[in-house]
Amino acid sequence: MNSSVLSRITPTVTRSALSALSSRGYAAAPDHDLVIIGSGPGGYVAAVKAAQLGLKTACVEKRETLGGTCLNVGCIPSKALLHNSHLYHEAIHSFASRGIECDNVRLNLDTLMDQKTKAVSALTGGIAHLFKQNKVSRFDGHGKITGPNEVSVHKSDGSVDTIKTKNILIATGSEVTPFPGIEIDEDTIVSSTGALSLKKVPEKLVVIGAGVIGLELGSVWCRLGSHVTAVEYLGSIGGMGIDGEISKNFQRILGKQGMKFKLDTKVMGATKSGDTITVQLQSAKDPSKNEEIQCDALLVCVGRRPYTENLGLEELGIKKDNRGRIEVNKLFQTNVPNIYAIGDCIPGPMLAHKAEDEGIICVEQIASGNKPHIDYNCVPSVIYTHPEVAWVGKSEEDVKKEGTAYKVGKFPLLANSRAKTNSETDGIVKIIADKATDRILGAHMIGWGAGEIINEAVLAMEYGASCEDVARVCHAHPTVSEAFREANLAAYAGKAINF
Ligand SMILES: Cc1cc2nc3c(=O)[nH]c(=O)nc-3n(C[C@H](O)[C@H](O)[C@H](O)COP(=O)(O)OP(=O)(O)OC[C@H]3O[C@@H](n4cnc5c(N)ncnc54)[C@H](O)[C@@H]3O)c2cc1C
Repeated sequence: MNSSVLSRITPTVTRSALSALSSRGYAAAPDHDLVIIGSGPGGYVAAVKAAQLGLKTACVEKRETLGGTCLNVGCIPSKALLHNSHLYHEAIHSFASRGIECDNVRLNLDTLMDQKTKAVSALTGGIAHLFKQNKVSRFDGHGKITGPNEVSVHKSDGSVDTIKTKNILIATGSEVTPFPGIEIDEDTIVSSTGALSLKKVPEKLVVIGAGVIGLELGSVWCRLGSHVTAVEYLGSIGGMGIDGEISKNFQRILGKQGMKFKLDTKVMGATKSGDTITVQLQSAKDPSKNEEIQCDALLVCVGRRPYTENLGLEELGIKKDNRGRIEVNKLFQTNVPNIYAIGDCIPGPMLAHKAEDEGIICVEQIASGNKPHIDYNCVPSVIYTHPEVAWVGKSEEDVKKEGTAYKVGKFPLLANSRAKTNSETDGIVKIIADKATDRILGAHMIGWGAGEIINEAVLAMEYGASCEDVARVCHAHPTVSEAFREANLAAYAGKAINF
């Protein structure tokens, strides 16, 4: 540990104070430099990094397994279902045209769910291992901040541990936003959590909300045989930040796969009678237009909200904004300077990688006093459907609104040799660049592997690359990444080579 780290980590309690706590009936707990509440991608990554930087670190988690929403009921289980439902769909709809004939392709939903559970267990167990390896102390129970330097851990057996600490990091994440008037039973009226474990493939599934999570989970069940209708209040799909042109393309592709959309449509309520759920709809543009649709499963997917229940924020006067998000400054400090917050419980996109990066930066500055920062314009978004949709930076609508003089370079996957070879030609890469400087302002793609290729765009943007910079970088052939290069070439030189 270097001296600057040491100077920042003076224990806040003496050993005698700790034994006094013990004598008051608390389990003896060592003093810590940092206590993190929540072990999602924000909290666990921060814990490992803090320990690696020499901070004596503890992580409190109320769930039985580590990893938060992401590993337990979010990114990981949804991607397991997306991958395997895609293979099933391919086996039925595309294998024969590729010369692979298999009769009697059948779905074993239990095995599909088992594979998901195994992936989740392996990864949550991996975090427990990382904690041991890096000497992060794990506390099981509900963490509550009981003073600027104290966290109490309420365990399932009713006992309480108290941890004295120099710093506290809140990484308590988010929870499903309820839909007023619709009661989620996680059986047939489900949130994203229930949609990851439906017991049978619904004949008809209605999804409220055509944002990222709704489209991913809608896709899963559509591929497995459900008739899926996504109802969306807005006039487009894909949620915040998606480029309008990409969104239209995406809707067309999902439509070809069998998904139906009711855009500009408000859900007014839902009633369940026996096995049938009736969903009441109203046109968002014309309230006199009403209709009802019926389904046997309803997925409520209208977003997530910060989770800070019984955390002690009110008692300490820690400020939240009008959406319940904890207010922080650029160093992730709340208005109590040694209490920090990161991830889904603060403003910004609710994404695992955003939470991770905030966690790392936050603890780096606690440990070293340096002041690194995140460029939120360079946080990518991915929708893991097939094909994938991915973007980073500004959309065409954004630059128009800002009044920035811009140019666009596009390259369709139809003209990309690898996409063509693989019969995966649905999609396009679109680059938005500054007209005067050629600097990349945004990259938007829909296509096979877009969720991987987008990281090249992020790297380019982090380094302030121009379209010419990317266009002059040698790309392996044949790869779908060449489409990214060609779109940059189209933006910089006005013309791609292969289109
Ligand atoms: C279905 C679904 C799919 C998703 N897919 C993606 C994806 O593909 N990519 C992506 O980037 N993001 C995805 N997300 C979003 C992603 O899961 C979140 O952005 C991410 O998990 C946020 O991380 P976090 O660390 O802030 O909080 P969380 O992951 O929510 O973790 C918070 C943890 O804190 C614990 N906790 C809360 N309060 C207390 C307390 N008082 N004491 C102790 N413990 C407490 C909770 O139990 C939880 O384990 C998805 C989300 C869902 C629901």
